[in-house]
Amino acid sequence: MKVYRLDLNDVVQHPGRRVEYPIEIWLEREEAPPLAEPIHGTLVAESGGRILRISGEFQTTVWLECGRCLSYFQLPVAFEIHEEFPLAGTPAGLSAYGYAEVEDRDSFPVFEGNYLYVDDLLRQYLLLELPLAPVCREDCKGLCPTCGQNLNEAQCACAPKAGHPAFEELARAWYSED
Ligand SMILES: [Zn+2]
Ligand SMILES: [Zn+2]
Repeated sequence: MKVYRLDLNDVVQHPGRRVEYPIEIWLEREEAPPLAEPIHGTLVAESGGRILRISGEFQTTVWLECGRCLSYFQLPVAFEIHEEFPLAGTPAGLSAYGYAEVEDRDSFPVFEGNYLYVDDLLRQYLLLELPLAPVCREDCKGLCPTCGQNLNEAQCACAPKAGHPAFEELARAWYSED
């Protein structure tokens, strides 16, 4: 299991300190759609004394399956993160006996002590950015419901059905009365 753990203790113990971390990270396959390139960007950690601010801008490209034609396609995704975590205790930078620690009371915590699990945090944001019903392109023609031919690639021999079969029956009955 690949875990991307970032030690933010230095920032947490020094109010006013701001550190930028270049990030390049792959996510576990089973936890997110397959990535075509790592998530990359810069994560910024900044301590306000009682609050730890985490921000950053990230980009990646994910592989998705088209809901109409079932082919796989790549979707570039960009997102920003903004998080604030309360800090408990007196930072060591202010008192010789002090030690501050991040309080992450979220139901899906991303901190363990002053270690940030960057993969967990970025995955939460990435999943929110993905479309609920992905399509490879707006005008994707999908698959023929009769023979399964991908209609983006070729037209099949199946006759296009006009209207619903039930209404076709009604129409036939109407005209056959004359
Ligand atoms: Zn498609
Ligand atoms: Zn067909």
